[in-house]
Amino acid sequence: MDIQVATRKRLCLDCDKPVYGRVDKKFCNDQCRVSHNNKINHNTIESVKSINIILKKNRSILSKLSEGNSTKISSIKLLGTGFNRDYHTHTYKNSKGELYIFCYDYGYLTLANEEFLIIKKKI
Ligand SMILES: [Zn+2]
Repeated sequence: MDIQVATRKRLCLDCDKPVYGRVDKKFCNDQCRVSHNNKINHNTIESVKSINIILKKNRSILSKLSEGNSTKISSIKLLGTGFNRDYHTHTYKNSKGELYIFCYDYGYLTLANEEFLIIKKKI
């Protein structure tokens, strides 16, 4: 294969100008490389930030509804607060096979009769 032809067709991942030189070269120069990586990092940071906001809100809701070590609450009351069940930090299954879903140190267990059991885990 003619390397010169192949390299001429490649475009900089940052500015879309043609890239010349080594076959594996992806950017015009270091400035474009740094700029491209900064954009990727920025998008990653924004995604992490928005998920962290949801997780912290979920934890705050569980914390406000919690009274003592364990609190039973209706699903209507919990979900009416804007609690987002799609996001959690981790889960814990006890010896009975019950799955607790946590947002940081607060967790909940789905009970049979449209209720949740909210618990606070000691760290
Ligand atoms: Zn460039």
